[in-house]
Amino acid sequence: MKLFNTMSRQVEDFVPQNGKKVSLYTCGPTVYLDPHIGNWKTFINYDLLVRTLTQAGYEVDQVLNITDVGHLVGDGDDGEDKMAKTATEQRKTAWEIAEHYTSVFYEGLKQLNITPPSNMPKATDHIQEQIDMIKVLEEKGFTYTIDDGVYFDTSKCSDYGKLARLDLEGQQAGARVQENAQKRNPQDFALWKLSPKDQKRDMEWDSPWGTGFPGWHIECSAMALKYLGATIDIHGGGIDHIPIHHTNEIAQSESANGVEFSKFWFHSAFIDVDSTKMSKSLDNFYTIEDIKAKNIDPMAFRMLVVQAHYRKGSNFTWEALEAAAQRLKHLRAFADLVWQGSGEGQVDVKAVEQSFVKHMQNDLNTPAALEVVSNLLNQFANRLPSSQEASDIRALLGTMDEYLGLKLSETTDIDEFAKQLLLERENARQEKNWEESDRLRVEIEKQGLSVNDTPKATIWSRTS
Ligand code: AMP
Ligand code: ZN
Repeated sequence: MKLFNTMSRQVEDFVPQNGKKVSLYTCGPTVYLDPHIGNWKTFINYDLLVRTLTQAGYEVDQVLNITDVGHLVGDGDDGEDKMAKTATEQRKTAWEIAEHYTSVFYEGLKQLNITPPSNMPKATDHIQEQIDMIKVLEEKGFTYTIDDGVYFDTSKCSDYGKLARLDLEGQQAGARVQENAQKRNPQDFALWKLSPKDQKRDMEWDSPWGTGFPGWHIECSAMALKYLGATIDIHGGGIDHIPIHHTNEIAQSESANGVEFSKFWFHSAFIDVDSTKMSKSLDNFYTIEDIKAKNIDPMAFRMLVVQAHYRKGSNFTWEALEAAAQRLKHLRAFADLVWQGSGEGQVDVKAVEQSFVKHMQNDLNTPAALEVVSNLLNQFANRLPSSQEASDIRALLGTMDEYLGLKLSETTDIDEFAKQLLLERENARQEKNWEESDRLRVEIEKQGLSVNDTPKATIWSRTS
């Protein structure tokens, strides 16, 4: 299997450290609002990675963290705590906010058919592990303490910024006036933030440095170490994480553990809406609920994401989503063919399946994988498959589902009554009794089927 590695900026042969076992750490949601479609794009891309690795014969241990503390409005160390901000707005505690939006996230996983990660640890359940790692960093001389907390001194880390290929000297020279004048370097980041002296926070803990809460990045370093070990096989996130969050995770983990943090870095490109960045102020901050409110199946959104390459930025429009819904419908009609294998033909469906798999294992090339299927599908526009072709299509759909999770193969045959109606209509057509045939078409439609009369055969497909 081949996979792009952000660290090398190249597609590489993927070889895990331990035979068939793959340790995968994926940055999860900050549970302070409903996840938006951009977040879901990244989570669907993780799922494609897990499914493809699993199909390639690997046993994937995926950790996806739930960020329920420490993520500030600015991805640096400035601004309000996101959890606290929503808590104030909704007049609830940060704990209640975290609980609510964590369950919204779990529900979304189901609606989008995302394989639940093997482990979804919460940052607030791992405060001790985070404190322990900060202590190690402190002992090794990577930290310093200023008025508002304990910081990581990036100048002590010789290869700081290697993932993002940051030009530190250029940045240092051009740096704006720092938000926090006590910071030694503009890139330094908080490991432990102290609670304001005059204020009690909903979420705060005792620590050797005083009462406060962990910085955003340390949770991932601490939980990756606890659950997956010091060196993991793959670390994933959205591309926004490259310059700050993942850069800082690497600095912490490699400084504390003394070994390479992750062999591969997997990043999902951003989705924009109507060609602009998603933001609440622009009112283009769409969620699964917004999609459902337009009577569109959330699985159409999965289709929209799946048909694009994960490393290519995409643009969300409602028209594009409608088109994806149509494409999914088309694939479902293809799935209906497996129950109608009475035609004649010898198309090599198995070769198509092999080509599909090859594209998927080549850095998850979903657009190419789907194109070979679309080409095959076109061959059945006007005819029914033979029983051999139907059985091979069934196998292909099963394989596609394993990789893409579009639930194409989960159909059962139509019931006897519907079959009887189709047969009666066929007879009426042979007798050129068009009136009866039209009447039966209406009856068939009432059974949730539509019929397409081609020169060789009548092909049915499900309408719902
Ligand atoms: P957050 O809830 O902000 O911590 O983000 C959760 C995940 O969604 C992270 O991996 C982000 O990189 C990713 N993400 C955020 N916005 C977008 C977007 N517009 N498109 C794709 N991924 C995104
Ligand atoms: Zn992370």
